[in-house]
Amino acid sequence: MDAEIISVGTEIVLGQIVNTNAPFLARQLATLGITADRQLAIPDRRDLMVKAIRVAWRRSPLVFVCGGLGPTADDVTLAAVAEAVGTGLTIDQDHWRWIQGTFAQRHKPMMPENIQQAKYLAGGQPLANAVGLALGSWYEQDDHRLIVLPGPPREFTPMVTQEVMPRLTKLVGRQVQITSRTLNFFGRPESQLMDEIAAVTANLDGVTITSYVQPDAIQVRMTVRDQPRAIADQLLDAAQAAIIKRESPFFFGVGDDCRLAKVVVDQLRDRGWRVTAAESLTGGMFQSTICSVPGASNVFDGGLVTYAARAKEQLLGIDHQVIAEHGVVSAQTAAQMAEKSRDKLGVDVGLGFTGVAGPDSLEGQPAGTVWVGLAIAGRPTTTKLLHLGAYRGRQAVRRQSVQAGLQMLYQALSK
Ligand code: ATP
Ligand code: MG
Repeated sequence: MDAEIISVGTEIVLGQIVNTNAPFLARQLATLGITADRQLAIPDRRDLMVKAIRVAWRRSPLVFVCGGLGPTADDVTLAAVAEAVGTGLTIDQDHWRWIQGTFAQRHKPMMPENIQQAKYLAGGQPLANAVGLALGSWYEQDDHRLIVLPGPPREFTPMVTQEVMPRLTKLVGRQVQITSRTLNFFGRPESQLMDEIAAVTANLDGVTITSYVQPDAIQVRMTVRDQPRAIADQLLDAAQAAIIKRESPFFFGVGDDCRLAKVVVDQLRDRGWRVTAAESLTGGMFQSTICSVPGASNVFDGGLVTYAARAKEQLLGIDHQVIAEHGVVSAQTAAQMAEKSRDKLGVDVGLGFTGVAGPDSLEGQPAGTVWVGLAIAGRPTTTKLLHLGAYRGRQAVRRQSVQAGLQMLYQALSK
Protein backbone atom coordinates (compact mmCIF):
# COMPACT_ATOMS: atom_id res chain seq x y z
CA MET A 1 0.00 0.00 0.00
CA ASP A 2 1.18 3.55 -0.69
CA ALA A 3 0.61 6.51 1.59
CA GLU A 4 0.81 10.29 1.46
CA ILE A 5 2.02 12.46 4.30
CA ILE A 6 0.94 16.08 4.43
CA SER A 7 2.83 18.11 7.03
CA VAL A 8 1.08 21.31 8.02
CA GLY A 9 2.96 24.36 9.29
CA THR A 10 4.22 27.66 7.97
CA GLU A 11 7.39 27.19 10.08
CA ILE A 12 8.11 23.93 8.24
CA VAL A 13 7.58 25.50 4.84
CA LEU A 14 9.87 28.41 5.72
CA GLY A 15 12.55 26.08 7.06
CA GLN A 16 12.35 27.50 10.58
CA ILE A 17 11.83 24.07 12.07
CA VAL A 18 12.99 20.75 10.76
CA ASN A 19 10.22 18.33 9.92
CA THR A 20 10.98 15.31 12.05
CA ASN A 21 7.44 13.92 12.12
CA ALA A 22 7.18 12.88 8.48
CA PRO A 23 10.43 10.84 8.46
CA PHE A 24 9.46 9.20 11.74
CA LEU A 25 6.08 8.22 10.33
CA ALA A 26 7.61 7.07 7.04
CA ARG A 27 10.00 4.78 8.94
CA GLN A 28 7.16 3.31 10.95
CA LEU A 29 5.06 2.74 7.83
CA ALA A 30 7.98 1.08 6.07
CA THR A 31 8.05 -1.62 8.75
CA LEU A 32 4.58 -2.58 7.54
CA GLY A 33 5.60 -2.49 3.91
CA ILE A 34 3.75 0.80 3.37
CA THR A 35 5.66 3.35 1.29
CA ALA A 36 5.01 7.03 1.90
CA ASP A 37 5.82 7.87 -1.69
CA ARG A 38 4.29 11.33 -1.59
CA GLN A 39 5.28 13.80 1.12
CA LEU A 40 4.21 17.39 1.12
CA ALA A 41 4.56 20.40 3.43
CA ILE A 42 2.00 23.19 3.32
CA PRO A 43 1.56 26.40 5.34
CA ASP A 44 -1.19 27.00 7.91
CA ARG A 45 -3.60 28.22 5.25
CA ARG A 46 -7.02 26.71 5.09
CA ASP A 47 -7.55 27.21 1.34
CA LEU A 48 -4.25 25.53 0.43
CA MET A 49 -4.88 22.71 2.86
CA VAL A 50 -8.34 21.95 1.51
CA LYS A 51 -6.98 21.79 -2.04
CA ALA A 52 -4.05 19.56 -1.15
CA ILE A 53 -6.08 17.21 1.04
CA ARG A 54 -8.81 16.82 -1.62
CA VAL A 55 -6.28 15.71 -4.19
CA ALA A 56 -4.56 13.30 -1.80
CA TRP A 57 -7.85 11.87 -0.52
CA ARG A 58 -9.02 11.09 -4.04
CA ARG A 59 -5.69 9.64 -5.10
CA SER A 60 -4.40 7.58 -2.17
CA PRO A 61 -5.71 4.80 0.04
CA LEU A 62 -3.90 6.24 3.05
CA VAL A 63 -3.41 9.94 3.82
CA PHE A 64 -1.84 11.50 6.91
CA VAL A 65 -2.33 15.14 7.83
CA CYS A 66 0.07 16.19 10.59
CA GLY A 67 0.09 19.36 12.69
CA GLY A 68 -2.13 22.32 13.49
CA LEU A 69 -4.54 20.73 15.99
CA GLY A 70 -3.99 23.36 18.68
CA PRO A 71 -6.66 25.74 19.93
CA THR A 72 -5.21 28.90 18.41
CA ALA A 73 -6.42 30.79 15.34
CA ASP A 74 -3.62 29.48 13.12
CA ASP A 75 -4.57 25.89 13.86
CA VAL A 76 -7.15 25.19 11.17
CA THR A 77 -6.22 21.67 10.14
CA LEU A 78 -9.26 19.84 11.44
CA ALA A 79 -11.73 22.22 9.82
CA ALA A 80 -9.82 22.04 6.54
CA VAL A 81 -9.76 18.24 6.56
CA ALA A 82 -13.48 18.10 7.34
CA GLU A 83 -14.22 20.39 4.42
CA ALA A 84 -11.96 18.46 2.05
CA VAL A 85 -13.51 15.05 2.77
CA GLY A 86 -17.04 16.43 3.12
CA THR A 87 -17.82 15.71 6.75
CA GLY A 88 -18.30 17.70 9.94
CA LEU A 89 -16.72 17.68 13.41
CA THR A 90 -17.93 15.84 16.50
CA ILE A 91 -17.13 16.62 20.13
CA ASP A 92 -15.88 13.71 22.20
CA GLN A 93 -17.79 14.54 25.40
CA ASP A 94 -15.68 12.35 27.65
CA HIS A 95 -12.51 13.95 26.39
CA TRP A 96 -14.00 17.44 26.73
CA ARG A 97 -14.83 16.74 30.38
CA TRP A 98 -11.28 15.45 30.86
CA ILE A 99 -9.80 18.65 29.36
CA GLN A 100 -11.94 20.78 31.67
CA GLY A 101 -10.88 18.69 34.65
CA THR A 102 -7.23 19.02 33.68
CA PHE A 103 -7.41 22.82 33.62
CA ALA A 104 -9.22 22.90 36.95
CA GLN A 105 -6.62 20.62 38.53
CA ARG A 106 -3.79 22.85 37.33
CA HIS A 107 -5.56 26.05 38.46
CA LYS A 108 -5.32 27.40 34.93
CA PRO A 109 -8.06 29.36 33.21
CA MET A 110 -9.48 27.51 30.24
CA MET A 111 -10.13 29.30 26.97
CA PRO A 112 -13.37 28.71 25.08
CA GLU A 113 -11.18 27.66 22.13
CA ASN A 114 -9.95 24.62 24.06
CA ILE A 115 -13.08 22.78 22.98
CA GLN A 116 -11.38 22.50 19.56
CA GLN A 117 -9.07 19.92 21.06
CA ALA A 118 -11.97 17.64 21.96
CA LYS A 119 -13.17 17.50 18.36
CA TYR A 120 -12.60 14.80 15.75
CA LEU A 121 -13.90 14.05 12.27
CA ALA A 122 -17.60 13.14 12.30
CA GLY A 123 -18.14 9.56 11.21
CA GLY A 124 -14.58 8.66 12.19
CA GLN A 125 -12.86 7.64 15.42
CA PRO A 126 -10.93 9.81 17.89
CA LEU A 127 -7.27 8.88 18.50
CA ALA A 128 -6.07 9.25 22.09
CA ASN A 129 -3.27 11.69 22.88
CA ALA A 130 -1.00 10.19 25.56
CA VAL A 131 0.70 13.45 26.53
CA GLY A 132 -1.29 16.38 25.12
CA LEU A 133 -4.81 17.74 24.90
CA ALA A 134 -5.76 17.46 21.23
CA LEU A 135 -7.36 14.28 19.90
CA GLY A 136 -6.30 12.82 16.60
CA SER A 137 -8.78 11.47 14.05
CA TRP A 138 -9.08 8.26 12.03
CA TYR A 139 -11.53 8.49 9.16
CA GLU A 140 -12.51 5.89 6.55
CA GLN A 141 -14.61 5.91 3.39
CA ASP A 142 -14.64 3.30 0.60
CA ASP A 143 -11.23 1.80 1.33
CA HIS A 144 -9.66 5.24 1.72
CA ARG A 145 -8.30 6.25 5.11
CA LEU A 146 -7.32 9.65 6.40
CA ILE A 147 -5.53 10.14 9.69
CA VAL A 148 -5.09 13.48 11.44
CA LEU A 149 -2.27 13.84 13.98
CA PRO A 150 -0.95 16.63 16.25
CA GLY A 151 2.25 18.55 15.41
CA PRO A 152 4.41 18.54 18.58
CA PRO A 153 6.73 15.52 18.20
CA ARG A 154 6.27 14.48 21.84
CA GLU A 155 2.54 14.09 21.11
CA PHE A 156 2.92 12.90 17.53
CA THR A 157 5.32 10.03 18.23
CA PRO A 158 3.24 8.20 20.86
CA MET A 159 0.05 8.70 18.86
CA VAL A 160 1.72 7.05 15.87
CA THR A 161 3.10 4.12 17.84
CA GLN A 162 0.19 3.59 20.24
CA GLU A 163 -2.85 4.49 18.17
CA VAL A 164 -2.03 4.40 14.48
CA MET A 165 0.41 1.48 14.16
CA PRO A 166 -1.80 -1.11 15.89
CA ARG A 167 -4.71 -0.18 13.61
CA LEU A 168 -2.54 -0.26 10.51
CA THR A 169 -0.91 -3.52 11.56
CA LYS A 170 -4.36 -5.11 11.73
CA LEU A 171 -5.25 -3.67 8.37
CA VAL A 172 -2.02 -4.70 6.66
CA GLY A 173 -1.87 -8.02 8.52
CA ARG A 174 -4.55 -9.29 6.21
CA GLN A 175 -2.21 -8.63 3.30
CA VAL A 176 1.31 -9.35 4.50
CA GLN A 177 2.51 -10.56 7.86
CA ILE A 178 5.55 -8.71 9.22
CA THR A 179 7.27 -9.82 12.41
CA SER A 180 10.23 -7.88 13.71
CA ARG A 181 12.44 -7.62 16.76
CA THR A 182 15.00 -5.01 17.78
CA LEU A 183 18.33 -5.75 19.48
CA ASN A 184 20.30 -2.97 21.19
CA PHE A 185 24.09 -2.60 21.20
CA PHE A 186 26.71 -0.14 22.34
CA GLY A 187 30.42 0.41 22.04
CA ARG A 188 30.88 -0.90 18.49
CA PRO A 189 31.05 1.16 15.30
CA GLU A 190 27.87 0.55 13.30
CA SER A 191 29.59 -0.68 10.13
CA GLN A 192 31.79 -3.11 12.05
CA LEU A 193 28.83 -4.41 14.03
CA MET A 194 26.79 -4.92 10.86
CA ASP A 195 29.67 -6.65 9.06
CA GLU A 196 30.08 -9.06 11.95
CA ILE A 197 26.34 -9.66 12.12
CA ALA A 198 26.19 -10.28 8.37
CA ALA A 199 28.92 -12.91 8.71
CA VAL A 200 27.15 -14.88 11.45
CA THR A 201 23.68 -14.68 9.86
CA ALA A 202 24.71 -15.37 6.25
CA ASN A 203 23.20 -18.87 6.29
CA LEU A 204 19.88 -17.79 7.85
CA ASP A 205 17.31 -17.29 5.11
CA GLY A 206 14.23 -15.18 5.49
CA VAL A 207 15.50 -12.66 8.05
CA THR A 208 16.27 -9.12 6.91
CA ILE A 209 18.60 -7.18 9.19
CA THR A 210 18.91 -3.39 9.26
CA SER A 211 20.55 -0.98 11.68
CA TYR A 212 19.66 2.40 13.06
CA VAL A 213 21.94 4.62 15.13
CA GLN A 214 20.30 6.22 18.17
CA PRO A 215 22.14 8.74 20.38
CA ASP A 216 22.68 6.10 23.05
CA ALA A 217 22.57 2.80 21.15
CA ILE A 218 22.81 1.04 17.85
CA GLN A 219 19.51 -0.62 17.16
CA VAL A 220 19.54 -3.71 14.95
CA ARG A 221 16.15 -4.66 13.61
CA MET A 222 15.48 -8.19 12.38
CA THR A 223 12.41 -8.60 10.18
CA VAL A 224 10.60 -11.64 8.79
CA ARG A 225 7.92 -11.21 6.16
CA ASP A 226 5.05 -13.41 5.11
CA GLN A 227 5.45 -16.13 7.72
CA PRO A 228 3.02 -17.25 10.41
CA ARG A 229 3.93 -15.84 13.80
CA ALA A 230 5.31 -19.10 15.24
CA ILE A 231 7.67 -19.69 12.32
CA ALA A 232 8.72 -16.04 12.24
CA ASP A 233 9.54 -16.21 15.95
CA GLN A 234 11.68 -19.31 15.41
CA LEU A 235 13.62 -17.55 12.65
CA LEU A 236 14.10 -14.48 14.81
CA ASP A 237 15.19 -16.62 17.78
CA ALA A 238 17.81 -18.32 15.62
CA ALA A 239 19.13 -15.02 14.26
CA GLN A 240 19.16 -13.46 17.73
CA ALA A 241 21.10 -16.40 19.18
CA ALA A 242 23.71 -16.24 16.41
CA ILE A 243 24.12 -12.48 16.79
CA ILE A 244 24.36 -12.46 20.57
CA LYS A 245 26.86 -15.33 20.55
CA ARG A 246 29.17 -13.12 18.49
CA GLU A 247 28.40 -9.73 20.07
CA SER A 248 27.49 -10.51 23.68
CA PRO A 249 29.82 -7.92 25.30
CA PHE A 250 28.06 -5.17 23.35
CA PHE A 251 24.47 -6.37 23.57
CA PHE A 252 22.21 -4.92 26.26
CA GLY A 253 18.61 -5.70 25.50
CA VAL A 254 15.67 -6.40 23.23
CA GLY A 255 13.01 -3.93 22.13
CA ASP A 256 12.60 -0.54 20.49
CA ASP A 257 12.19 1.16 23.85
CA CYS A 258 15.09 -0.55 25.62
CA ARG A 259 17.40 2.06 27.21
CA LEU A 260 20.76 1.29 28.78
CA ALA A 261 20.05 3.52 31.80
CA LYS A 262 16.89 1.53 32.52
CA VAL A 263 18.69 -1.80 32.11
CA VAL A 264 21.38 -0.62 34.56
CA VAL A 265 18.85 0.63 37.11
CA ASP A 266 17.09 -2.76 36.92
CA GLN A 267 20.40 -4.60 37.35
CA LEU A 268 21.25 -2.52 40.42
CA ARG A 269 17.80 -3.03 41.91
CA ASP A 270 17.97 -6.78 41.35
CA ARG A 271 21.21 -6.89 43.34
CA GLY A 272 19.89 -4.50 45.97
CA TRP A 273 22.77 -2.12 45.22
CA ARG A 274 22.81 1.69 45.23
CA VAL A 275 24.86 3.90 42.97
CA THR A 276 26.32 7.40 43.22
CA ALA A 277 28.76 9.54 41.29
CA ALA A 278 31.11 12.49 41.49
CA GLU A 279 30.92 14.37 38.23
CA SER A 280 33.17 16.99 36.78
CA LEU A 281 32.73 17.53 33.04
CA THR A 282 29.32 15.84 33.03
CA GLY A 283 28.05 18.22 35.72
CA GLY A 284 25.36 15.88 37.02
CA MET A 285 24.31 14.44 33.68
CA PHE A 286 25.02 10.86 34.75
CA GLN A 287 22.90 11.27 37.88
CA SER A 288 20.20 13.01 35.86
CA THR A 289 20.17 10.09 33.43
CA ILE A 290 19.74 7.63 36.29
CA CYS A 291 16.92 9.81 37.67
CA SER A 292 15.18 9.79 34.30
CA VAL A 293 14.34 6.12 34.86
CA PRO A 294 11.13 5.48 36.83
CA GLY A 295 12.03 3.72 40.07
CA ALA A 296 15.46 5.36 40.29
CA SER A 297 14.89 5.96 44.01
CA ASN A 298 15.41 2.23 44.56
CA VAL A 299 19.04 2.57 43.54
CA PHE A 300 20.01 6.24 43.92
CA ASP A 301 20.12 8.53 46.98
CA GLY A 302 22.21 11.41 45.65
CA GLY A 303 25.70 12.34 44.62
CA LEU A 304 28.12 15.14 43.89
CA VAL A 305 29.01 17.60 41.19
CA THR A 306 32.64 18.59 41.69
CA TYR A 307 33.64 20.75 38.78
CA ALA A 308 36.67 22.69 40.00
CA ALA A 309 39.70 21.03 41.57
CA ARG A 310 38.88 22.89 44.81
CA ALA A 311 35.44 21.26 44.96
CA LYS A 312 37.00 17.86 44.35
CA GLU A 313 39.24 18.42 47.36
CA GLN A 314 36.69 20.11 49.65
CA LEU A 315 33.55 18.10 48.94
CA LEU A 316 35.09 14.74 48.17
CA GLY A 317 38.34 14.91 50.06
CA ILE A 318 40.50 14.05 47.09
CA ASP A 319 44.18 14.31 48.03
CA HIS A 320 45.66 17.57 46.88
CA GLN A 321 48.77 15.56 46.16
CA VAL A 322 46.96 13.29 43.66
CA ILE A 323 45.70 16.23 41.64
CA ALA A 324 49.04 18.04 41.82
CA GLU A 325 50.95 14.97 40.72
CA HIS A 326 48.66 13.45 38.09
CA GLY A 327 46.34 16.29 37.08
CA VAL A 328 42.55 16.51 37.35
CA VAL A 329 42.15 14.63 34.08
CA SER A 330 43.81 11.41 35.13
CA ALA A 331 43.06 7.82 36.03
CA GLN A 332 44.08 8.51 39.63
CA THR A 333 41.62 11.41 40.02
CA ALA A 334 38.79 9.49 38.32
CA ALA A 335 39.43 6.51 40.60
CA GLN A 336 39.45 8.66 43.73
CA MET A 337 36.29 10.47 42.65
CA ALA A 338 34.56 7.11 42.23
CA GLU A 339 35.80 5.71 45.55
CA LYS A 340 35.27 8.82 47.63
CA SER A 341 31.76 9.47 46.30
CA ARG A 342 30.86 5.86 47.10
CA ASP A 343 32.27 6.21 50.62
CA LYS A 344 30.63 9.60 51.24
CA LEU A 345 27.20 8.31 50.30
CA GLY A 346 27.81 4.93 51.93
CA VAL A 347 26.63 2.97 48.89
CA ASP A 348 27.86 0.02 46.85
CA VAL A 349 28.89 1.67 43.60
CA GLY A 350 30.53 5.01 42.79
CA LEU A 351 31.51 6.53 39.46
CA GLY A 352 33.89 9.38 38.76
CA PHE A 353 33.81 11.48 35.61
CA THR A 354 36.66 13.83 34.82
CA GLY A 355 37.77 15.10 31.46
CA VAL A 356 38.01 17.86 28.91
CA ALA A 357 34.60 18.75 27.47
CA GLY A 358 36.15 21.34 25.18
CA PRO A 359 36.44 23.30 23.06
CA ASP A 360 39.72 24.29 24.78
CA SER A 361 42.29 21.80 25.94
CA LEU A 362 43.18 21.40 29.62
CA GLU A 363 46.45 20.47 31.29
CA GLY A 364 47.84 19.86 27.81
CA GLN A 365 45.14 17.24 27.09
CA PRO A 366 42.96 17.74 24.02
CA ALA A 367 39.20 18.23 24.22
CA GLY A 368 37.43 14.88 24.29
CA THR A 369 39.94 13.26 26.67
CA VAL A 370 37.90 11.73 29.49
CA TRP A 371 38.59 9.37 32.37
CA VAL A 372 35.77 7.41 33.96
CA GLY A 373 36.32 5.60 37.24
CA LEU A 374 34.17 2.80 38.64
CA ALA A 375 34.43 1.74 42.27
CA ILE A 376 32.41 -1.26 43.43
CA ALA A 377 32.61 -2.41 47.04
CA GLY A 378 34.77 -5.52 47.30
CA ARG A 379 36.22 -5.22 43.81
CA PRO A 380 39.29 -3.43 42.53
CA THR A 381 38.49 0.05 41.17
CA THR A 382 38.68 0.29 37.39
CA THR A 383 39.21 3.29 35.14
CA LYS A 384 38.71 3.84 31.45
CA LEU A 385 40.24 6.41 29.16
CA LEU A 386 38.04 7.79 26.38
CA HIS A 387 39.16 9.73 23.35
CA LEU A 388 35.87 11.22 22.19
CA GLY A 389 35.30 13.06 18.96
CA ALA A 390 35.74 16.61 20.25
CA TYR A 391 34.72 17.98 16.85
CA ARG A 392 31.15 16.95 17.64
CA GLY A 393 31.09 19.52 20.41
CA ARG A 394 30.98 19.87 24.14
CA GLN A 395 27.51 18.43 24.74
CA ALA A 396 28.28 15.32 22.69
CA VAL A 397 31.46 14.73 24.70
CA ARG A 398 29.46 15.02 27.92
CA ARG A 399 26.69 12.70 26.68
CA GLN A 400 29.16 10.11 25.41
CA SER A 401 30.97 10.19 28.75
CA VAL A 402 27.70 9.37 30.51
CA GLN A 403 27.07 6.52 28.07
CA ALA A 404 30.58 5.18 28.67
CA GLY A 405 29.92 5.23 32.43
CA LEU A 406 26.66 3.34 31.94
CA GLN A 407 28.45 0.81 29.72
CA MET A 408 31.18 0.19 32.30
CA LEU A 409 28.54 -0.26 34.95
CA TYR A 410 26.47 -2.58 32.76
CA GLN A 411 29.47 -4.76 31.97
CA ALA A 412 30.52 -4.90 35.62
CA LEU A 413 26.99 -5.79 36.74
CA SER A 414 26.65 -8.46 34.04
CA LYS A 415 29.56 -10.42 35.51
P1 ATP B 1 -0.16 22.96 19.52
O1 ATP B 1 -1.33 22.80 20.41
O2 ATP B 1 1.16 22.82 20.26
O3 ATP B 1 -0.21 24.17 18.63
P2 ATP B 1 -0.52 21.55 17.03
O4 ATP B 1 -1.04 20.18 16.76
O5 ATP B 1 -1.34 22.71 16.57
O6 ATP B 1 -0.22 21.65 18.57
P3 ATP B 1 1.55 22.70 15.48
O7 ATP B 1 0.97 24.04 15.80
O8 ATP B 1 1.48 22.23 14.07
O9 ATP B 1 0.87 21.59 16.38
O10 ATP B 1 3.03 22.59 15.95
C1 ATP B 1 3.39 22.89 17.27
C2 ATP B 1 4.89 22.84 17.38
O11 ATP B 1 5.29 21.47 17.23
C3 ATP B 1 5.65 23.57 16.30
O12 ATP B 1 5.90 24.91 16.60
C4 ATP B 1 6.94 22.79 16.26
O13 ATP B 1 7.81 23.20 17.28
C5 ATP B 1 6.49 21.38 16.50
N1 ATP B 1 6.22 20.68 15.24
C6 ATP B 1 5.08 20.68 14.53
N2 ATP B 1 5.17 19.93 13.44
C7 ATP B 1 6.41 19.42 13.45
C8 ATP B 1 7.13 18.54 12.57
N3 ATP B 1 6.55 18.05 11.47
N4 ATP B 1 8.40 18.24 12.88
C9 ATP B 1 8.97 18.74 14.00
N5 ATP B 1 8.36 19.56 14.86
C10 ATP B 1 7.09 19.91 14.59
MG1 MG C 1 -0.48 24.83 16.84
